[in-house]
Amino acid sequence: MTERPGAYVHVPYSAHRCSYCSFVAVTGRETEGEYFDALVREVRARGGEVDGPVDSVYFGGGTPSFAEPANLGRVLAAIGETFGVSPGAEVTAEANPDDLDDGRLSALAGLGVTRLSVGVQSLEDEELEPLERRHDAAAALEAVRRALLLGLRVSADLMIGIPGQTRESLRRSLEAILSSGVGHVSVYLLEIEKAPRLVAMREAAPGLFAGDDEMAARWEEVDDLCTAGGLPRYETSNWAKPGEESRHNLKYWRRDPVVAFGVSAASFDGIVRRVNSGSIPSYLRSVGQSGTAFVSREALPPEAALREGVLLGLRLAAGVQVEAFEAALATLPSSDRRRMEDVFEAGLLEREGGRVRLTRNGALLSNEVFSLLL
Ligand code: SF4
Repeated sequence: MTERPGAYVHVPYSAHRCSYCSFVAVTGRETEGEYFDALVREVRARGGEVDGPVDSVYFGGGTPSFAEPANLGRVLAAIGETFGVSPGAEVTAEANPDDLDDGRLSALAGLGVTRLSVGVQSLEDEELEPLERRHDAAAALEAVRRALLLGLRVSADLMIGIPGQTRESLRRSLEAILSSGVGHVSVYLLEIEKAPRLVAMREAAPGLFAGDDEMAARWEEVDDLCTAGGLPRYETSNWAKPGEESRHNLKYWRRDPVVAFGVSAASFDGIVRRVNSGSIPSYLRSVGQSGTAFVSREALPPEAALREGVLLGLRLAAGVQVEAFEAALATLPSSDRRRMEDVFEAGLLEREGGRVRLTRNGALLSNEVFSLLL
C-alpha cells in the first residue's frame, strides 16, 4: 500500500528557554510575521515535491501554541492549496500547557488542528522547576483536560531522569496523566550534556540523578503502567490507545515521504533527504531569494537505505518483515552477521510471525542492535 505523504512545519518561537532545550528555538517574536510569510512562500514554491494530498500535518518547534493561531492557519491553508490535505487528516500542534487557555484552544481547533502534543514533562512541581518550565502540574492537567473536552486528541510528553525524580514520583505523574484520558504518551530521557545548569547541578548533587540501571527500570515502569492502562507501546518511546498512534511520526519510522518547511526542517521524498538552513536570518534570506532554503541533500546508497529502513522499523513494536531484515543483513560483512545472530541468542531480537522485532530487553538495549546496522 502506498502511504500518503505528510507535511512538517517548524515554528521556532518559544516564550522562554527551558534549561534542557536542544531544539531550534528562539525567545522573542520580532520576526514572527516575516517568518510565517516566508513559510507560506516556501510551501507555494515547493508544490509538486511530493505526490499529495498529505494526510498529516505536524507543527513542531519551538512552541507552535505560542504563535498566533492565524499564522498557523495561513500555512495550513497554503499546504491545502498547494498539496491538498486529505479529509480526516491528522493535524498536530506541539503545545505548552500555559498557552492553552480556552481562546487559544478554540482557535487551534477552529483552524483544523485535530491533535495536540502537550509538553507536560512531569506532574510534580519540584521536578518542573529545574527544567525551567513555565507551567505547574495543575496547569498542565487542566490544559490537557480542556483540550480533551473540546474533542482534540491529546498526546502528553513526559520525561525520565529529571533531577530529584524517583520511580514513585514518575509513577504518580504517569498515573495522573493516564487518568486524564489522553490517548497517547511519549516518554523521553532527559539529556543534560548540553544544559549547563543541569550539568552543574549534577556535579553539586549527583544523587539527584538516576544511573543507567535506574533509568532502565523507570522505562520498564512506564511500559508496564501504560500497557495496563490500555496504551500499549508501539514505538520505543511512544504508547497509544489503539487508533491513536501518531500517524505523522509513523512516517519517519516507516521511511515514508515528508515534505518539511521552516528553519532546520528535514524533508524526505522516499529517496533524497534535504535539510533547511538552521538559522532564521539565513532561512528568511534564502526563501526571499529563491523560495527554498536547502543547505544539504543526501541520498543513501541502496544498501545503506535498506539498513536504515530496518533500523527505523525496529523501533516499532511491530518490527519489520523477515524478508526486509534478511535483505539488510545480507549487506553486512560476515563478522557483523554473526554478531547479529548473537543478538538473537542473547534475547534482544526475536523472529515471530514472519517479522523480526526487538524484545523488551532489546528495546532497552537497542543501540547495541542498531550499531550493527549503521
Ligand atoms: S518549550 Fe520546547 S522548544 Fe521551547 S524552549 Fe522549552 S524545550 Fe525548547
